[in-house]
Amino acid sequence: MSASKLAVYWHPDVLKHDPGRGCYEYEASPLMEVAEPHPETPERIVNIRSILQRGDISGQVDWRDGRHAERHEIERFHTAAYVDEVIEAEKHPPTRIDGSGTVVDKGSVDAVFAAAGTTVAAVEGVLATENLAAYALVRPPGHHAARHMADGNCIFNNLAIAVETALQNGCRRVAVIDWDVHHGNGTQSGFYDRADVLTISMHMPLGAWGPNHPETGEIDETGEGDGQGCNFNIPLPYGSGDQAYAKAMDELVAPVVRDFDPDLIVIACGQDANQFDPNGRNLLGMSGFRHLGTVARELASELCAGRLLLCQEGGYAITYTGFCMYAVAEGILGVAEPMEDPLAYDASIEKPETPFAAIDEVGRQWRALAG
Ligand SMILES: [Zn+2]
Repeated sequence: MSASKLAVYWHPDVLKHDPGRGCYEYEASPLMEVAEPHPETPERIVNIRSILQRGDISGQVDWRDGRHAERHEIERFHTAAYVDEVIEAEKHPPTRIDGSGTVVDKGSVDAVFAAAGTTVAAVEGVLATENLAAYALVRPPGHHAARHMADGNCIFNNLAIAVETALQNGCRRVAVIDWDVHHGNGTQSGFYDRADVLTISMHMPLGAWGPNHPETGEIDETGEGDGQGCNFNIPLPYGSGDQAYAKAMDELVAPVVRDFDPDLIVIACGQDANQFDPNGRNLLGMSGFRHLGTVARELASELCAGRLLLCQEGGYAITYTGFCMYAVAEGILGVAEPMEDPLAYDASIEKPETPFAAIDEVGRQWRALAG
C-alpha cells in the first residue's frame, strides 16, 4: 500500500546554522585565493523544500510546522555535559568542536534545537496518526553524532533522539535504515548494546577516520551484549549505482527488517549517494532513490501499520539532492508516472563488473582491430 500523503515537518531556524567558507569543509588554505562555501549549506535543503512545493506531487505533500526541542528531549539521547558543551561553544564563534571539524557559529544553537525539535514533532505525528509517513526536513545532519560528541558536521543526532522518543511512547522495537552514503556511526554507537533498536547502514567504505569516528562500518561490527546481531553494516564499493543499492535493499535490508519485526521504521534518508555529490562516490540516480523509497514504504505498510519516519541527513549537490529526495517521495507515494531524471547519465548502459574488466575488454577489442 502506498501513502496518500507525505507529511513534511519544517522550521525556518534550521537555516541559521552557517558553517562558513574554507578549503571545502576544512579550514581555509593559505594557498588558495578563493575560499569556497562549506558543503553543508542551507541552500541544499531550501532546494529540497522547493521541489516538494513545486513538483507534480505537491498536492500530496502536507506541510507541518516544526518546533524547537526542549532540552530534556535532546537528553533522551545526548549527555547533559555534551549539550552544555554545544551551548557554550556558540559563545565563542566560530569554533570547531570536539576536534571533529564540526563548526558551531552564531545561530547554530537555534538551528540544532530546531532540527532536533522538528524531528521529534515528526515522530510524534507518526505515532499519533494512522498510516502516516513523515519527513523531517532539517539540518545540520545528525547521524555521525555520538551521545557525547560531535562528528562529521553533525551536532545533535536528530534521528536517534526520535528513536528514543518513539521507545518512550509505546514502540517496542524500532528499525533504522541509513542509506546516507556515509556510515551512520553515531547511531550505531548509540544503540550498539540495545536489542530494541536495529541499526542498518548502507555506505561507501571509508573506514574509521579519527578519534571522533572509531567505527569502521565493516560487517564485523554486529552489536554487543543485548544488542548482538542488531547492527548490520553493508559497505558498498565506490561506483555501486542504482542496481547494487536495489539488490542490497531487496535481498539484505528487507529480510533483516522483517525478521526484526519493528513497530516503527526510521530512515536516515541522506541523498549523498547521488551521482553528482561532492562527498559521495556511489553514483545513484533518481530511479535508484525512488526504489529505496518504494521498499521503505512497503516494509512500513507490511510490518508497522505504515509508520515511517524519514530524517534528512547528508546530500551536498545543491540541485541534484533535491531531485533525488523528490524521487524518494515518489517511491513512498507510489507515483505511477514519475518525473524524468533531468540530469541522469544513461542508466541503460550495461556496466562491466569492475573497471578492470572494462579496460580488459577495450584491450581485447584494440588487439583484435590491430591484429
Ligand atoms: Zn553523508
